[in-house]
Formats: sequence, structure tokens, C-alpha cells
Amino acid sequence: MLAVSGLKVKYGSATALQGVDLHIEQGEIVAVVGRNGAGKTTLLRAITGLVPVAGGEVKFRDQRITGLPAHQIMRLGIAHVPQGRQVFGDQTVEDNLILGGFSQYFKHRGAVRERLEAQYQLFPKLATRRRQQAGTLSGGEQQMLAIARALMSEPDVLAMDEPSMGLAPIFVKQVLDTVLDLKQRGKTVLLVEQMATAALAIADRAYVLQTGQVKLTGLARDLLKDREVIRTYLGA
Ligand code: ATP
Repeated sequence: MLAVSGLKVKYGSATALQGVDLHIEQGEIVAVVGRNGAGKTTLLRAITGLVPVAGGEVKFRDQRITGLPAHQIMRLGIAHVPQGRQVFGDQTVEDNLILGGFSQYFKHRGAVRERLEAQYQLFPKLATRRRQQAGTLSGGEQQMLAIARALMSEPDVLAMDEPSMGLAPIFVKQVLDTVLDLKQRGKTVLLVEQMATAALAIADRAYVLQTGQVKLTGLARDLLKDREVIRTYLGA
């Protein structure tokens, strides 16, 4: 479904990704793990068009999407759930969700309404808080809102950047359960996580990044069992 080959990203003279290869099959949860500064966020942002690519290629369903603007990539079916959630705190929960469906808003308002209801079914807590300002939600609820907002574009692939960041363990579990639930509903998930063992526990396969390169890849359950991998690359 998604194939990344030789992907390079530079920030000025600094190289953040040095030729990354990665692929994701339909319906998989693929984790990208690694220590601070390994390039995980950069990889996700390069795939979803949020940072310019200096070399290599990203293909989505055999279509080259490298260098396309982020909104176009989103319309093709890849939605980004950003690090730190980035909800609009002074807007209501519902307005945040409508923004996620904005590309359809003027042409198909009915469709946006249907999608809203679908999110409220998936996340009943958001339904009860629909008129509440998003900034007053707990961190875990804001993460659910960020995921629901991404789902409003009805993506095939969800690219999630450190959804566990800053959350209490109970909310981390809820978020990871949500990711598993999305897989059951047919979504494909690219999950970038600093909390490597938690991500490996739910992923099908994983890539371990270090200084902008893939150091290891394999079945998540195999990587999880390998103490040397965890100690050397993941620092946990
Ligand atoms: P973290 O888990 O801390 O978010 P990460 O694995 O996601 O780390 P990135 O944020 O992708 O890593 O950063 C990869 C490298 O690129 C780091 O050396 C970082 O300092 C650098 N970098 C990231 N964003 C920028 C930027 N906007 N300008 C310059 N350098 C950057």
C-alpha cells in the first residue's frame, strides 16, 4: 500500500534521513521506533508531505506521491495525526472534527455530518463533549480527538506521531487499544513511537531507526523479545 525507498531529508546542511526504505501492506500496523532524534517524526512528515524530500521516493498504491502538497496526500488517503495532538484548543470538539473533514465541507455537507456521527459512535466521549472547547479536554481525550479528526477524511492509512506522548499509562493503553480497533476496522497504521515496547506489543512489523537510517526491521513480536535490540537501539 505504501512503499518508501531511499528517502532522504535534510534540514539545511544536516541530514535527518539518510535513505530510508520501508513498506506497509494493507491492514498492517507498522511501528517506527528509535531513540530521540533518530528521525521518526521526520520520516512521517516526509511521507505526508509536511517536510520537503531531498531524495528517494514515496509511493502510495503505486502512485508516486513524493513532493505532493500535504493536502493532496491527505485527499489521496493518508491522514496525519500530529505529535502533541495540535487540536484547536479554543474551538469546540465538533469544530475540530469539521476541520478534519474540511475538504468535503462545501461540496458534501451531508457526508461531513455522517462522518461526524461515525466518529461519535467510535468515540462516545467526544459525543458527550461535542460543544466543549477542545482545550479543556484531558490529554487522552485530546488524543482521541486528534485521531477522530484525522479519520474525518476517511483515510486508508493513518500516520500517527507519538500518540502516547505525555499521557498517563491508562490513556496510553486506551490509545493503543484504539489503534488495534482501527486495524480491525480495516485501517492501515504507520505508528511512530518513542514508547517502543508499547508500540511493538501492538504492531505487526517494525522498523528501528537510528541517526536517520533503518538499523533493523522484522516482526514486532521478534524485536520485542530481543533484549539486545531493546537495550542497544531503544534505550529501555
Ligand atoms: P523525537 O522522538 O525526539 O521527536 P525523532 O526520532 O522524531 O525524535 P526527528 O524529530 O525526526 O527525530 O529529528 C531527526 C533529526 O533532525 C534530529 O537531529 C533533529 O534535531 C533534526 N531536526 C528535526 N526537525 C528539525 C528542524 N525543523 N530543523 C532542523 N533540524 C531538525
